[in-house]
Amino acid sequence: MEQTLNKPASIEDVLAKRPLIISGPCSAETEEQMIKTATLLAETGRVDMLRAGIWKPRTRPGSFEGIGVKGLPWLLQAKKITGLPTAVEVATAKQVADALSFDVDLLWLGARTTVNPFSVQEVADALRGANVPVFIKNPINPDLELWLGAVERVAKAGIKKIGIIHRGFSSYGNTEYRNAPMWHLAIEMKRRFPELMIINDPSHICGNRSLLLSVAQKAIDLDFDGLMIESHIDPDNAWSDAKQQVTPAKLVELLDSIKWRHETTDEKEFVVALEKMSDQINHIDDELMQLLGQRMKIAEKIGEYKKDNSITILQTNRWNEILERAFKKGENLGLCKEFITKYYDAVHMESINHQNKIMNS
Ligand code: PEP
Ligand code: MN
Repeated sequence: MEQTLNKPASIEDVLAKRPLIISGPCSAETEEQMIKTATLLAETGRVDMLRAGIWKPRTRPGSFEGIGVKGLPWLLQAKKITGLPTAVEVATAKQVADALSFDVDLLWLGARTTVNPFSVQEVADALRGANVPVFIKNPINPDLELWLGAVERVAKAGIKKIGIIHRGFSSYGNTEYRNAPMWHLAIEMKRRFPELMIINDPSHICGNRSLLLSVAQKAIDLDFDGLMIESHIDPDNAWSDAKQQVTPAKLVELLDSIKWRHETTDEKEFVVALEKMSDQINHIDDELMQLLGQRMKIAEKIGEYKKDNSITILQTNRWNEILERAFKKGENLGLCKEFITKYYDAVHMESINHQNKIMNS
């Protein structure tokens, strides 16, 4: 196990790879576990970077809180053997200094850190002057501004290479996911910062290895730059996040099952066909917009009527009737109930706002 499998890859080259695959255990537990996992991952030839939690921010006290500084030499050794650059989560200035002193190649802020501007600022200050790439996980709550704020704090500290990691958001009650993906938030971050790398972390979204493929596939379909997936030589006996980790062999199966897609292609026929369909969609969107404008004009007229007759804006029966009608129609058109509800809620709110303006003018 002492010989080097690969010459250490430069972190810049590794970060340019698409899709970028980061894998490794939730937590570094023992030297043997770390080296064995890293070696097996490197042997797959499918993994670009090795992750491991050294300090673990656990929701409740009493569970394994990370091996601490003791694990950093193991990671360095794993890098020397496999050539894989390493990535570690940091949450304090001391952790930044410790990780950098053991040549960790990439640092990331965890969801429980991004949520707290004091912690983010402490980490950002400790990063000043360091030439290390930093990835920022989304905060645990669905707050785009907090995610954005953390990116800004790290950027202001002079860090040039910044990426973001989408790991889902806490939600109360039972859902099939450990952390709801709320894809629209990741898409919005991508829209606002097209130059930032965005990695999906299906492990912490799913909380369960059986769901990994569907979430990873969706991320690839949405043109994410890569995936961070937790792996362990003996997942069921992992000291943290046992249910969601996979063996290196299972990781390969997973990666083989993903249908990899590209955002664009130069193939002429495809480009022409896509342009034509994009045109059609633009036309339909324009028409929808025109119709919505007309709908609001009618709502305003109704508002005038209601005002003259002192009638309330909201009429629950009428609203239920509209929704029921829409569900029936939508079903035949292949539109799901959830979409119809969201769409009608938005249209209804806009309509109420228009009526409100008239009735209170
Ligand atoms: C982790 O990556 O193991 C971790 C603790 O993740 P998160 O910050 O997404 O909860
Ligand atoms: Mn984990």
